Amino acid sequence: MRSNIFAILLVCFFPLTVYPQKGEEKVKVSVTILPVAGFVENVGGERVEVMVMIPPGANPHTYEPAPEQLKRLSESRLYVKVGSGIEFELSWLDKLISLNPQMYICDASRGIELIYPDSAGSKCERCGRRADPHIWLSPLKAMKMVENIRDALIEVDGGGREYYSRNSEDYIERLRKLHKYIKKRLKDLKGETFMVFHPAWKYFAREYGLKEKAAESEGKSLTPAELISLITYAKKNGIDKIFVSPQFNRKSAEVIAGEVNARVVSIDPLAKDYIENLAEMADILAGDRK
Ligand SMILES: [Zn+2]
Repeated sequence: MRSNIFAILLVCFFPLTVYPQKGEEKVKVSVTILPVAGFVENVGGERVEVMVMIPPGANPHTYEPAPEQLKRLSESRLYVKVGSGIEFELSWLDKLISLNPQMYICDASRGIELIYPDSAGSKCERCGRRADPHIWLSPLKAMKMVENIRDALIEVDGGGREYYSRNSEDYIERLRKLHKYIKKRLKDLKGETFMVFHPAWKYFAREYGLKEKAAESEGKSLTPAELISLITYAKKNGIDKIFVSPQFNRKSAEVIAGEVNARVVSIDPLAKDYIENLAEMADILAGDRK
């Protein structure tokens, strides 16, 4: 009798013990980019082990996976793709799936409205009608991505349902706070344009009523004529900083900055610590961080 009561007590007090038991395998998850690795770790916590295909500092528009990554990929139960048309996924995902056909594929962009380039302009003729892939840089879209990741984790590891749900709620709450913070910081900048070298920040800009003016498109280096037109633009619009990502050469940005007396500011669209990174972007735009 006594041992029965003990068993009941155990069940009552530890119904949510969902960490993997000793020796139990973690769910191996592969993802394309670091911010998504951060999302998966926040939702999956102790139950998952995450591998990122595009390592820190590598360019997601051109990176090719290393052989040992392909080996680890073949052990993954879940692959989280951004799903918005990143070059790496367009050229590699089919191959990755053929290496591991059992792997469950989560499309993190499911339910997210993509931004397509304007139909006018020679630049867009070059890039065709492909969507802008950088969806994760809007915190509201990131919330949706986190929900998609939660659903996929539950799909492959139903035992963690409550754990994943709770974690995703917590993280979405943090993203909501981040969104409020950025909104407040940028409220006086509505309608203003910021200049970036690589066009990664359009979803972010749109969310907060700003405009992104990008120097390059499709990773091509600038022609002298493009450079001059950007310098003219920057002068006319009082551009005082030019954002560069660490994955790209900052040389042309420095040329433009030198001509118009602006600063070159480095910010990483692929930082893993998503919340801190976007808050920093807002602080820099608001003008109180170098
Ligand atoms: Zn990019």
